[in-house]
Amino acid sequence: MLPYGRQSIVEEDIAAVAEVLRGDWLTTGPAVRRFEADLSALVGGVPTVSVTSGTAALHVAYAAAGIGQGDEVVCAPMTFVATAATAIQQGATVVFADVSPETGNLLPEAAAAAMTAKTRVVSSVDYAGHPVQVDELLKVAHDGGALLLEDAAHSIGGTWQRRPVGALADLTTFSFFPTKNLTTAEGGAVATPNPDLARRAAQFRNHGLVRDKARMRYPDEGGWHQEVHEFGLNYRLPDVLCALGSSQLRRLAWFKERRAEIHARYTAGLSDVDGVRTPVTLPGADPMWHLYPLRVLDGRRRDLFDHLRAGGIGVQVNYIPVYWHPVFADLGYQRGMCPNAERFYAEELSLPLFPDLSDDYVDRVIELVRKFFSPERSLRSEQ
Ligand SMILES: *Cc1c(COP(=O)(O)O)cnc(C)c1O
Repeated sequence: MLPYGRQSIVEEDIAAVAEVLRGDWLTTGPAVRRFEADLSALVGGVPTVSVTSGTAALHVAYAAAGIGQGDEVVCAPMTFVATAATAIQQGATVVFADVSPETGNLLPEAAAAAMTAKTRVVSSVDYAGHPVQVDELLKVAHDGGALLLEDAAHSIGGTWQRRPVGALADLTTFSFFPTKNLTTAEGGAVATPNPDLARRAAQFRNHGLVRDKARMRYPDEGGWHQEVHEFGLNYRLPDVLCALGSSQLRRLAWFKERRAEIHARYTAGLSDVDGVRTPVTLPGADPMWHLYPLRVLDGRRRDLFDHLRAGGIGVQVNYIPVYWHPVFADLGYQRGMCPNAERFYAEELSLPLFPDLSDDYVDRVIELVRKFFSPERSLRSEQ
């Protein structure tokens, strides 16, 4: 089965990992500092903190923002469950706000309507790699005394009005899972232009340990001394994986170019098909396309999914609205609260998209989709 996404690993990546394995440090050594510096360079010089997954990055970001019991987080529902689940792990209440029917991204006016005096963070997602309308969302969040979080698990390398994703929101989180745009096997990072948030994020990632004498309660205890002021966890991304990350970053520009080519090839091959809608790009967005979210109309998404899977094409659906998960239903969240997201889900089908996918395969997928919608086939199925 052709997968919908997969990593691209070359000999240089393997050599970079092997070099670390032969050295003195397996974890928290020079490769971590190098990877964080490389990431920061990509996101306009903004400080970054590497962690063990995109989920850890979200948890660290919420912890850095200081959210807990009694606080509310406004969240987009068209995302992987972790965007909301990690806020709940911190004790907060999640309030879902609807998305754009075009891009699947959080609507600024819906976010504004969901804000209360208790809102501390507004969590948006660069769905499929298309950046959010960050200026409007920043205004909504800041007007309400909240921070804007951008879950950029899909969009590292993208830009909005020529500014890089990672430099836009108060807190940006990345995932380096193999299907994403760049991989460290498991891994993630938080980027924030706010030095205090960056310090808190780095501290939470490493058990909450304070090693800066100037901030210690007992600075004269001795050279071995370190203190915990707030609880944290161990979310440290090891040197072995950071070396893979730095190596992968060197090919990110090509990943972006190739993903854009495949995206454009699908759109050229499918935009005239009755029964589907191809993805939209807003002016100002230069997406790093992680997904190709085709919209299948007239209730035929499931049939097309089964048709393509039967043809060996590993299509996927991204995503079930987060509050449809039984864990949210059990908390009292009800269907119907974000109609755009629910409709988006009902129509969405992610076609295979990854840098090493060949044009021939893309054309094969296009042909299978076209055949599914061709009049001869409908006639046959009516007989
Ligand atoms: C993949 C993903 C995550 C979680 O990242 P992991 O590295 O798998 O933990 C969070 N949010 C979104 C939107 C994702 O796609």
